[in-house]
Amino acid sequence: MPHIPFYLDDRPAYFGGFKRDYAESDFALFGVPFDGTSSYRPGSRFGPDAIREASANIETWSWRTGTDFEELRLHDLGNLAVVHGDAGETIRRVGDTVEDIVSTRKIPIMVGGEHLMTLGAAKAIKGCTFVSFDAHFDLRDEYLSNRLSHACVMRRVMEEEGKDRVIFCGVRATFGEELRWVKENGIKFMTSRDLLREGTKSSSSWLREALKGSEKVYITIDMDVIDPSYAPGVGNPEPEGIHPSLLLDMLQEVIDERVVGFDIVEVAPKYDMGITALLASKMIFEICTMMKRK
Ligand code: MN
Ligand code: MN
Repeated sequence: MPHIPFYLDDRPAYFGGFKRDYAESDFALFGVPFDGTSSYRPGSRFGPDAIREASANIETWSWRTGTDFEELRLHDLGNLAVVHGDAGETIRRVGDTVEDIVSTRKIPIMVGGEHLMTLGAAKAIKGCTFVSFDAHFDLRDEYLSNRLSHACVMRRVMEEEGKDRVIFCGVRATFGEELRWVKENGIKFMTSRDLLREGTKSSSSWLREALKGSEKVYITIDMDVIDPSYAPGVGNPEPEGIHPSLLLDMLQEVIDERVVGFDIVEVAPKYDMGITALLASKMIFEICTMMKRK
């Protein structure tokens, strides 16, 4: 085992309903039940457990990849012991956890919790290009006088890796000042309207092209990128999103051996009847089968 159990709570956790030994696993999943900076609808702290519960109650075969999730080697580390009220310390613990997972040659899967937690992964994995599927840019320099807010997370990630190291897909919610900054700095993005108009093939070839020259890729999925009709249980729902199948078909076209980890964040299960957590767990199944190691 890595030395992370210090940060983990000790409840049994079985994503997918089963668990491999850590030593023989390829994937190491952990939950981060933190929603301390949420500005509209709090509750993503309940995301990891809701996603786990859903994952234990769906079938494991992927028609998309022709692979059974159950045959993959995944270890569920449980939830991180977060410090409510201390985003900085919680980010540090996420970073330590991701660093430990990567140092033992496993693929980290972080289940949020709020999007700010992706900064922990960015601090731990250097030299990555981040692909952010999100309705929002999250590029404010500060939000409500706070630089460590979910609304600023990608700005902070850029400070770690560089402005050309984050690519946005599915964005549709911004405001004048942020969009000006995006354009002035030549940030690469496709809006949800672009994705819907272009479809899977041309959207994924755009993304593949944008990732040319990147040695490592990290994928962060804010569930609000999906249309609220399919994913209503999120902190900041935003109309006119994309269909879950478009996102997954795109990922299937783009994911290759450069992908070193991914996260799914912002599921706030109290705002629906379980459909967003169910979708998130299905997405984790599908993405893992795309990343299957031989
Ligand atoms: Mn976000
Ligand atoms: Mn968002």
